[in-house]
Amino acid sequence: MKRLQFILENETATVAFGKRLAELVTTIPLDSLVVFLNGDLGAGKTTLTRGFVQGMGHLGNVKSPTYTLVEPYELESCRVFHFDLYRLADPEELEYMGIRDYFQPFCYSFIEWPEKGAGILPAEDLIIDLEYVEQQRRVTLMAKSVRGEQIINQLV
Ligand code: ADP
Ligand code: MG
Repeated sequence: MKRLQFILENETATVAFGKRLAELVTTIPLDSLVVFLNGDLGAGKTTLTRGFVQGMGHLGNVKSPTYTLVEPYELESCRVFHFDLYRLADPEELEYMGIRDYFQPFCYSFIEWPEKGAGILPAEDLIIDLEYVEQQRRVTLMAKSVRGEQIINQLV
């Protein structure tokens, strides 16, 4: 299956969904994953990433990398990179940041505002769209690779 859509009723559900993704990359297992996160401000992109990062074993805070562009998490068995490219003026800046080093085996990347990095970012495995539905959120997953499909197949 290539596409899946469901409702996340509240913030707790969004965090739990991020944690479920962490569980899946561990159990499938997937040695790397690139996730593009789409959605308006406040849609839940950072909340979902927080669930993933915590699910991978990070015990501390997960803050939005709005000003730093990327927040790395060095975990026991992997690295997670949380990007927020909202303030990126030029995709070339990512080159200067040495972004190629971020997309390696045992690295998982969650990227908010990926369109800002067009042409420099690697191809995504999964697109996750978050939309407001009254007080809740609708999430749509679209697989863009075999890895992405494996995740969706485990979620149905
Ligand atoms: P983004 O990174 O997309 O700008 P954030 O994750 O920073 O969004 O903020 C999302 C906001 O929406 C937070 O206030 C959070 O509590 C709330 N939220 C997250 N998931 C849900 C949900 N499923 N239903 C309702 N509110 C949610
Ligand atoms: Mg955010």
